[in-house]
Amino acid sequence: MGIVMIKCPQTGREIPTGIKADRERFRCSAVFFARTYCSICQANHEWFAKEAWVYESS
Ligand SMILES: [Zn+2]
Repeated sequence: MGIVMIKCPQTGREIPTGIKADRERFRCSAVFFARTYCSICQANHEWFAKEAWVYESS
């Protein structure tokens, strides 16, 4: 399991969405749309699953 990450469109920084996912399952999952609060911009960013990736720390 890992954490779904997105790239902040304002700063280009990688930010965690707080969503836990399995990398293989996430890649195969249907396209979905989500909204994540960005602590850098202090705003919500909207993103699609295809723009996101799973970060596994192990
Ligand atoms: Zn941001």
